Amino acid sequence: MNQNSKYLNRIEHLSAQQIEELKSEYYSSVPIADILDKYKINVSPMNLWKTFPLVSTPQKQCKYCASVMYEVSLSRSRVHRNEYLCTRCSHHESPYGCSCKQCLREKAQQKEQQLIEQSLMGNEHRKAVTQIREYPGAPSLDMLSLREKAYLGALLRTSLHHDHLLLDLQSISFHNTAPTYRYTRMIVDTLLERNIITPYRLDDHEDKLILNRYIHGSLYDICISDDTLDKRQMIVSLMYPDETDQKDQAAELFREVNSYDAVNYLMKKVQQFNLKRFDPGERYIALFSYILQSYSLGQLLNFIYLTIKNQAAYTARNRYGLISLENEIFNQISKRFEKARSENWKVTNYNRSWEGEQSALSRLVSHNLLGVGERAFYQVIKGSF
Ligand SMILES: [Zn+2]
Ligand SMILES: [Zn+2]
Repeated sequence: MNQNSKYLNRIEHLSAQQIEELKSEYYSSVPIADILDKYKINVSPMNLWKTFPLVSTPQKQCKYCASVMYEVSLSRSRVHRNEYLCTRCSHHESPYGCSCKQCLREKAQQKEQQLIEQSLMGNEHRKAVTQIREYPGAPSLDMLSLREKAYLGALLRTSLHHDHLLLDLQSISFHNTAPTYRYTRMIVDTLLERNIITPYRLDDHEDKLILNRYIHGSLYDICISDDTLDKRQMIVSLMYPDETDQKDQAAELFREVNSYDAVNYLMKKVQQFNLKRFDPGERYIALFSYILQSYSLGQLLNFIYLTIKNQAAYTARNRYGLISLENEIFNQISKRFEKARSENWKVTNYNRSWEGEQSALSRLVSHNLLGVGERAFYQVIKGSF
């Protein structure tokens, strides 16, 4: 970041208008010594530009959190360039790139995607396991719904076996397929029921040689096939699908994923505020899906946080009261939402940087299918953006 806070107070004694004049003199190449003298600024000439305040640029939005960005002041030798800074999430748009948290994560994920694609397309895979087996009753790729493809793609992202084109559902990362464990289980059950995946069976000699070491009952095969793609190509296309034109369906799926993300957040806050744990269940999912039709996930987390915080204060005062937390919190979130909507409150978005990584399914839907990336967290998810 170019703006250095240690310089920002050096021109505190100047009015806004004086600062404008000072800047225009600086950029029109008036000798710096003269400027420092005229405006009584105590800074070395080479650092004068660092004292200039950030200028907000409403037409420029941060690609991660949708906040208005600030134009960064530059020294006069570099002024032909535009650089912008997001003061909310520290993202910095400049020709030198950016090393904010989101950009680093994005780069790491692109790198990982490349490595996976390369290793999938490489030739080192054993033939027996790369071939598609015949599974009677299994659907072909084009028979899968958008939702089923997304479920399978997310599961592949976290659980594709290191050496073979099989799923290994015992790996630790399996838990990060979807926001909650229950949701992940539901995904696996859905895929099993539809014959999209099936437990892998060793039924010929070659397989036994290859897989003997890996057998722990958690290997699953992908049963679907396609006329034009081989197994590897199909897996890559499922893991990293193109932006979809079925935007309404993708948006509906994303609201479902976000509801579970919100449940995950809710339980973390219940724990953090030392409230008694409970199992939120389906009605919370229904409520959150409904709220997400009018508010972003960032705003829903705001409703949840304030509700839990108030509840914790209330519970502390009423130590002996017998209340059902599950009912109470459900009712309070519903009320807060209805009030916010009917009275048109301005609801602040919470930051994505709350505990826990975005799940594989959430990333697949927001980055690939919807093509909105991190900003999806701060927007109401509808079919069109
Ligand atoms: Zn930002
Ligand atoms: Zn960045």
